[in-house]
Amino acid sequence: MQGVKKSDPEVYGHIVSEFKRQKDVLNLIPSENYVSKAVMEASGSVLMNKYAEGYPYKRYYQGNKNVDEVERIAIERAKKLFGAEHANVQPLSGSPANAAVFLAFLNPGDKFMGLDLACGGHLTHGSQVNFSGKTYQQVSYGVDKESGLLNMQEVREIALREKPKMIISGLTAYPRKIDFAEFQKIAEEVGAIHVADISHVAGLVASGVYPSPFPFTDVVTTTTHKTLRGPRGGMILCKEKYAKQIDKAVFPGMQGGPHMHTIASKAIAFKEALEPEFKVYSEQIVKNAKALADSLMNEGIKLVSGGTDNHLILIDLTSFGIGLGKEIAIALENAGICLNANTVPYDPSSPFKPSGLRLGTPVLTTRGMKEEEMKIIGQWIADVIKDYKNEKLQEIIIGKVKELCDKFVFY
Ligand SMILES: *Cc1c(COP(=O)(O)O)cnc(C)c1O
Repeated sequence: MQGVKKSDPEVYGHIVSEFKRQKDVLNLIPSENYVSKAVMEASGSVLMNKYAEGYPYKRYYQGNKNVDEVERIAIERAKKLFGAEHANVQPLSGSPANAAVFLAFLNPGDKFMGLDLACGGHLTHGSQVNFSGKTYQQVSYGVDKESGLLNMQEVREIALREKPKMIISGLTAYPRKIDFAEFQKIAEEVGAIHVADISHVAGLVASGVYPSPFPFTDVVTTTTHKTLRGPRGGMILCKEKYAKQIDKAVFPGMQGGPHMHTIASKAIAFKEALEPEFKVYSEQIVKNAKALADSLMNEGIKLVSGGTDNHLILIDLTSFGIGLGKEIAIALENAGICLNANTVPYDPSSPFKPSGLRLGTPVLTTRGMKEEEMKIIGQWIADVIKDYKNEKLQEIIIGKVKELCDKFVFY
């Protein structure tokens, strides 16, 4: 980055510091990943300069012969990767992808169903502070208070009673499997569109290590930067019969010019995800999450639903006190372990002072860590949680974290 260094030493300095931070901490934020150099290079390419409103071979500007091919390749690979009939690779991120889907199928005020934010849903699934909850009428479903699991019987009962026009399945903090087929069945029974938002688990779905919503689900939205390990971006996949409706909702409905440099990076990430090594990677993500969950539980730490089937774990801290998530997340950051505070289902505190921690294994697995490392990391996390005011302990652990990170250099 000699150009950045020369023209803007201030910003350059912060980028270099961030590079060091990513290298030296144990990054357990389940929505993050470390992309390949190829993905990163394409994002910084001349494709950034091109306006390409429209779709391949049907643009509103001239000069698109190269970006047309790039977008065509991205679409073809996305369809192949997931076994989807249609792909729109233009959404700028996960939230805009979901916004386009709302625009495609609902009118303001229409009713839809989404997983309650406090039970693991996303903001765009109907939170009152989000466009989805402000513009449309959300009916939420939750998880069982005791087991922490989705209750499909209850989802069906709510759907039959409320008759929503759209049902969203998908998670941002749910550590178990989702029965997408059952969601589709319920949606068909009540005449609703079923939208599976697989943002968190897309990489696992593509690798076949997590239930897939394809080919039966009406519409699937996803980010491309979580377990899928691509650039920051979004995507919508759907049945052919909804293709026109979705494409029109993305452009000109929601967005203007697509980010062609990101679309090139998406194409590269999809190619990487089609390689056999990516399946091995995804399998290891899940093995690591299970090993980390076991390690935490062996140390007496309580997990929502008692474990995990995917890449993420939700720690329930209520036995240590109410609303301790943020304070303990900061203590862990001081120990070199980066994760995020999160509400637990039926949190006795508030979203601003949640009582849980959310963590996951995509980044550490990208770095090459395995079950053996997860066992140790689980012990460190438990040690900090149990004695979260002990700054001396945090100092000791950050030293050990640095040593471990030095053995797993990625870039
Ligand atoms: C991350 C996520 C999104 C939003 O993605 P952004 O790229 O942050 O807008 C949407 N839905 C789910 C389920 C997510 O986990």
